[in-house]
Amino acid sequence: MTADRVADRALCGARTRSAGGRACRNPAGKGTSHVGTGRCRHHAGSTPSHLVAAEVVVAERALRTLGEPIPTDPLEGLQRAVDSAAGLHHGLQQLVREAAASDDSRALVPRLALYADAIDRLARTARQAVEARLTERQARINQEQGELLVRFVVAALAVAAIPPELHRPFRAALAVEIDRHRHIEEGGTP
Ligand SMILES: [Zn+2]
Repeated sequence: MTADRVADRALCGARTRSAGGRACRNPAGKGTSHVGTGRCRHHAGSTPSHLVAAEVVVAERALRTLGEPIPTDPLEGLQRAVDSAAGLHHGLQQLVREAAASDDSRALVPRLALYADAIDRLARTARQAVEARLTERQARINQEQGELLVRFVVAALAVAAIPPELHRPFRAALAVEIDRHRHIEEGGTP
């Protein structure tokens, strides 16, 4: 029996000789450990193969929910990845220590390999998170500097008693200058 065939039914559906070959109308999984899925207790629902098939269906259903998209801020997502990597790193470190303390070389070797991977992963995700934060910070500083310059120029125009209707060309020139400056900061040519 395939998992899909189990999933497509809310009834047991087994063909029964006693009922003249009609499908069993018991609820799916009635009287078994997998109520809601698969054959009922009277129709092999508790045999090992049915139990496995039902487990697969339940796991698939759970995965469908687990795979739902969750809106995430990229920086937050990176931080969560760092936290998970750190948790994994810590757990494997413990396992390595236990194996080393009990002189269990058969457990130690594979654990060391996993631990080495966990160190790499933690370092990689941490570096990505730091880089992303620095980039974001730089963008914010650029933005603040731009706003500051605009305020400065507006104040200067006021001090020079230049009428507001003439401010537009000054501000346009300033915007061009700020853009050029940013372009250079981001590694472009002047
Ligand atoms: Zn049945």
